[in-house]
Amino acid sequence: MFFYLSILLRKTVDNQYLDGLMRPKSIAVLGASSDPTKIGHSVIKNIIEGGYEGKIYPINLKSEEILGVKCYKSMLDVPGEIDAAVITIPAKFVLEAIDEAGKKGVKGLIIITSGFSEVGNKELEEQLVAKAHEHGIRILGPNIVGTLSNAEKLNASFAPILPLVGKGALVSQSGALLIAIDMATFTRRVGFEKLISIGNMSDVDFADLVEWLDKDENTSSISLYIEGFKDGRKFMDVARKVSKPVIALKAGVSAHGAAAAASHTGSLAGAAKVYGAAFQQSGIVQASDLGNLFDLSLALSLQPPMKGENLLIITNGGGVGVLATDAAERFNLPLKFAPKDVQDELKKHMPVFGSAKNPVDLTGMAGNDWYHDSVKFSFAHDWVDGLAVLYCETAMTEPMDIAVGIKKAIDESGVKHKPVCVSFVGGEKSEKAMQWLVENGIPAYAGPDLAISALSALREYARMKEIVSEPEEKLENIDKSAALSIIKAAREDGRDALTEIEAKQVFAAYGLPITATKLAKSEEEAVVMAKEIGFPIVMKIVSPEILHKSDAGGVKVNIKDEVSCREAYKTIIVNAKAYNPDANIHGIAIQEMAPWGTEVILGSVNDSTFGPTMMFGLGGIFVEVLKDVTFRVAPVSKKSSLRMISEIRGAPILAGVRGEAPRDREVLAETISRYANMIVDLADEVSESDANPVLVYEEGRGVKVVDARIILKK
Ligand code: ADP
Ligand code: MG
Repeated sequence: MFFYLSILLRKTVDNQYLDGLMRPKSIAVLGASSDPTKIGHSVIKNIIEGGYEGKIYPINLKSEEILGVKCYKSMLDVPGEIDAAVITIPAKFVLEAIDEAGKKGVKGLIIITSGFSEVGNKELEEQLVAKAHEHGIRILGPNIVGTLSNAEKLNASFAPILPLVGKGALVSQSGALLIAIDMATFTRRVGFEKLISIGNMSDVDFADLVEWLDKDENTSSISLYIEGFKDGRKFMDVARKVSKPVIALKAGVSAHGAAAAASHTGSLAGAAKVYGAAFQQSGIVQASDLGNLFDLSLALSLQPPMKGENLLIITNGGGVGVLATDAAERFNLPLKFAPKDVQDELKKHMPVFGSAKNPVDLTGMAGNDWYHDSVKFSFAHDWVDGLAVLYCETAMTEPMDIAVGIKKAIDESGVKHKPVCVSFVGGEKSEKAMQWLVENGIPAYAGPDLAISALSALREYARMKEIVSEPEEKLENIDKSAALSIIKAAREDGRDALTEIEAKQVFAAYGLPITATKLAKSEEEAVVMAKEIGFPIVMKIVSPEILHKSDAGGVKVNIKDEVSCREAYKTIIVNAKAYNPDANIHGIAIQEMAPWGTEVILGSVNDSTFGPTMMFGLGGIFVEVLKDVTFRVAPVSKKSSLRMISEIRGAPILAGVRGEAPRDREVLAETISRYANMIVDLADEVSESDANPVLVYEEGRGVKVVDARIILKK
């Protein structure tokens, strides 16, 4: 018992335990082979040729030595300690090998062998993990290429060589892609310190590696190629706390194959939106594609975050200057004119027909000195938060001289807390100059838009980190037990859908402003209740089998008197029976008629990866056709709710357009935040829900929830 507890503690508290796995002082290779067609041969060869300086122990029953290194029949025969063991033996022998590793005191297993959960053999994989944990061993894999580190000179993989040296680490869920990226580091001239194949993630997962890499002094940024998380919340919790930039490329975000769902929110929440929200909420920069992953990894591994909005562009070509300006706007970092003192100084470093505004155009006459002087001055100036230096190759200048001048200027400015990115457009000389810049810590790109996109990622990173560190707030006046008793009653009734009336009672328990509603079971009751509430009223069918009430002719609005009330009662019942003869009709809801307001939708899904997830968007046609909605993994603070309100395309409608008064975004934000809190609180019960529509009134007049839907977990 105590033993298991200590493993648990070690697993959660101390990820330094991965040291044995990630930077072993000695390494064994199970299945090491002299046969060049075997993976066990590639691995041992790669470890030797990579220049690994620790102890290497090939394990093989038959051989005396492999590639000049003494072989052992078993790990137990090895005289010294073994930190990590690479496993390349067939799947069916792995379990036994773990026992041996346990006896030997091995700390980590790099299980390259495949044939586990990826081919449906889940049970064996679970057994591996259970056994490894019995011995306090961590597992990377199975079904991986291996792990590569330039700092450790360790290529414990079947990828042929260590990648081009860089500062960031990259973790890949695809093995084939890892090998391809390894090769591509040389052609793209973007290096990595580490490449780690994560495979089936039976034990060590993205969260564990991110946590460990954050503390690794050789790693300056963390790039991830992700196909899917097992536990999205665990990842978010870790990612929020790391101090190094994390860049994620998420594959599989297309609508294809998205599960059909009962509610609006379900059908609108694809993996793209939910993962996107989760990344944003954890301060993770999202790459759009593989090329972008390289570009952003380069920038974030070399440069600090951009802490303000002021981007200055220095160029010698009007064309690239304009392209960069366009890109800045496209990437959400629009240019502002530089202040007068900046312009006055810069004018000294250009001909009269140059421009000092921003972009700063030194003109084609710009030589090394102009570049050097204007870069040095600008980078040191307080107004500038980030700098893009662009250069078009000219006949008069040598790209390498310009590059050296830029680097010198940056160093001489003494500024280390702002980012700079460079783009040279030209031929081979420009290529070489950019390579030199990258080797000297300055990201350089072949297109102006790429340099701007990199700076925008550095800006986005800083913005997200601010949001991530916002304190959480506590909401008052919440009655969870009232909500649970309503849910319990519905379950006892054998249902997993609440009626609108029940759903509104749950909403009310979380302080959401709902319309006053009563349930009438007869025409007479309806009239009495209508008078109590006061005309005009709204009448709606109440039946667990009729979730889309209007479709069934089950909603009548603006009922002004008793006669219409009686008539509506009969009509709604007839319509409902015609729509679904088997429907269980609880009665008719008699409801306060809310005045007209802007229609929005709030909703939730219980995402399989991230759990309760909140949606907000404009209602009516905007949600049906334009799908103008945004997501957050719940809970959502009031501040973040305000950001949700302002980030949908229809945001100006709520801000007040064409002389219309602005809507009450404060109360709307509070409502979103309360809703999000509710779905976290009730995560064990609620599968999907929505409030569609919620009517939003002028500032100071609040909001009203007029419809409510809750589907319970089965
Ligand atoms: P459903 O979505 O199941 O068809 P709703 O309750 O949303 O039913 O009603 C349909 C429409 O009727 C709403 O979109 C809204 O425009 C209007 N409506 C419903 N209830 C009210 C109410 N209490 N006050 C004002 N308008 C209402
Ligand atoms: Mg509705």
